[in-house]
Amino acid sequence: MNHSGRLLPEELEILDPPPVPSMVDWAPRELILPKKETRLSGPFSFEWAPWMRDLCNWFCDPLVREITLLGPLQFGKTLFMSVCLAYAIRFMPMPTMLVMADRQSLNKRMKRLRALFEANPFLMAQIDGDIRNLNVGEATELKDLLLVLAWVTSETALAESPEGIEFCDEVALWPMTVQNSEMSPLDHLRGRQETYAPVRKMVKVSSARETGDLADEEYESADRCEFWVPCHKCSYWHIPRWHDKEQPGSYAVLDREKDGSWLSLKEYASEDHVRYHCPSCGVVWSDYARGANLQKGIWLPAGVTAGRAGKIEGVVKPSAYKSARVRCLMVHPKLRAIRKMSVDWVRGQLMLKTGQIGGLKNFLNNQEAQPWRDTTADTDAQKLLTHRADYRSAEIATGKPVPWGIQGITIQIDVHDNWFRYLVMGWGWQYESWVIEVGQIETTDTREVESFEPLRPLIVKPWLSADGTWMLPSAVTIDCGYRPEPVKDFCRACRPVVYRGNMIPVLGAARRMNRTYAKVAVDVVLTRYDLNTLELKDRLWRHLFEAQTPGPGYMHLPADLPGYAISELCSEQKIVKARYPVWVQKKEGRDNHTWDAAYHGVFAAVLIGVGTMPPLPQEPTPKPAPAPPTAAPATQRKIRTHYD
Ligand SMILES: [Zn+2]
Repeated sequence: MNHSGRLLPEELEILDPPPVPSMVDWAPRELILPKKETRLSGPFSFEWAPWMRDLCNWFCDPLVREITLLGPLQFGKTLFMSVCLAYAIRFMPMPTMLVMADRQSLNKRMKRLRALFEANPFLMAQIDGDIRNLNVGEATELKDLLLVLAWVTSETALAESPEGIEFCDEVALWPMTVQNSEMSPLDHLRGRQETYAPVRKMVKVSSARETGDLADEEYESADRCEFWVPCHKCSYWHIPRWHDKEQPGSYAVLDREKDGSWLSLKEYASEDHVRYHCPSCGVVWSDYARGANLQKGIWLPAGVTAGRAGKIEGVVKPSAYKSARVRCLMVHPKLRAIRKMSVDWVRGQLMLKTGQIGGLKNFLNNQEAQPWRDTTADTDAQKLLTHRADYRSAEIATGKPVPWGIQGITIQIDVHDNWFRYLVMGWGWQYESWVIEVGQIETTDTREVESFEPLRPLIVKPWLSADGTWMLPSAVTIDCGYRPEPVKDFCRACRPVVYRGNMIPVLGAARRMNRTYAKVAVDVVLTRYDLNTLELKDRLWRHLFEAQTPGPGYMHLPADLPGYAISELCSEQKIVKARYPVWVQKKEGRDNHTWDAAYHGVFAAVLIGVGTMPPLPQEPTPKPAPAPPTAAPATQRKIRTHYD
């Protein structure tokens, strides 16, 4: 009390504390988003992220313990976490922890967090107005609570001290288990919340990656909500997804050339060649209409739908474990143009044609927030038989040209005790490929480098192309897993005679890799390539077993391919083991030499730049008369060593 006998406002507050506002009411009133760290700077508003409203209500709901949010890259996930964190600091005084995937991402996040603090006086008041008081890695004592900022493998995250609220970022990148234990890092963090069990909160946000990773598991084990939005024209409620195979002409529809092929990426990027069509009445949603429709959206758990006029069909059961997926079309048109999404989509489709799934996986992960469903793949010999074409290895060996379309040659060698398996491959536009020859070369004990000499004639042999020029192999790979030292010696000796020194020792890596291959320097001249077996075998499988019509991404086999080669090409299958897909032999000890050589061939094709080869003109008819058989080319003939 002061001298006048009247109460000051803050004294009044102590006697009668105001009720805690809901987050949805509070955030637009008090929270300021920092200028330098977000495009949505200024007072917070749900207008640009209407999907976030319900998620904020879940965070305040006393029944809800955990929220898992999967979302596209750079869209609102971090913002959602920041809003929750600010609200928690303001109104929920419990020990609070933010756990990032690694130290580097924590350092990056600190920039945004510091900016958030600096923009909001109520946050600055918690650290005595000095941003330097915000600690990384160890606890910061705020006025009302203890705040810990850590990364998942840090000592701070692995500690045991109790926490009430935990924010977990980019969970898909977290290790499945805590070091030296079988426990998942999320279970460890849950254990730390025991003290606060009746009021604890855990918020997990992530982009989607693979089926079976932590983010996917958390999403699937909760109530799996999707965002339902009405059409402004026919009020049909649906989930705004990018596309549905079953309903062509609905959702995102892209312009194409008259013959059905895609326009250029540049055209998709620069002009409007994509529109969103209502899957019921077909009306095109303008950006404005989509923005307005999104404002009316509602989250519904799996199994519950919204019928006409938004009538909810099914029972929405209360759940302590909520999960939600933000898809790219839910991102406000002001924040991301549908045009940009169409570029990513078409890029993925083009890559798929050549047997690469990377682009589509990227689109599903980063636009539709869907994990990649890596399924098992079987290798049925019946499917291979249709790949036999009308050319014969035996005829090419006696001087006939290789099939039309081949622009580069690679040779793959597999080493055994006293013999080699070799594979000659031809490559063309968009990874259409031809097995030219498979065979066996007998030799002496391969522990001795001299035993490799019988390979030399094969390595320097030129091949007659269909247009009458001669091609030397652009790359020769040789497996160095079995006889590392003699193989390396032989590679050193042969480098000068192979185009660009592409005489390459290769090794299928046992570890999981993110890249297609890794270079390992053996010495100053020689480099070994460690191959991503999963990716390359997946690609080979698509060339051989999935592609069923000649053209991009299709592998042709010669009519006289030996039976053992067919059997070897079918020797492995893909299964899912300990959550991850792996290629394994169908039967222990079954020969897989041609299969191994063939996936090395896919690597060699990537290395020599087959992806950048231009299309060839149509095969001229009638065919040019084949050149007379020769053992070796005459020197005056043009030798083409490479497609350039
Ligand atoms: Zn409609």
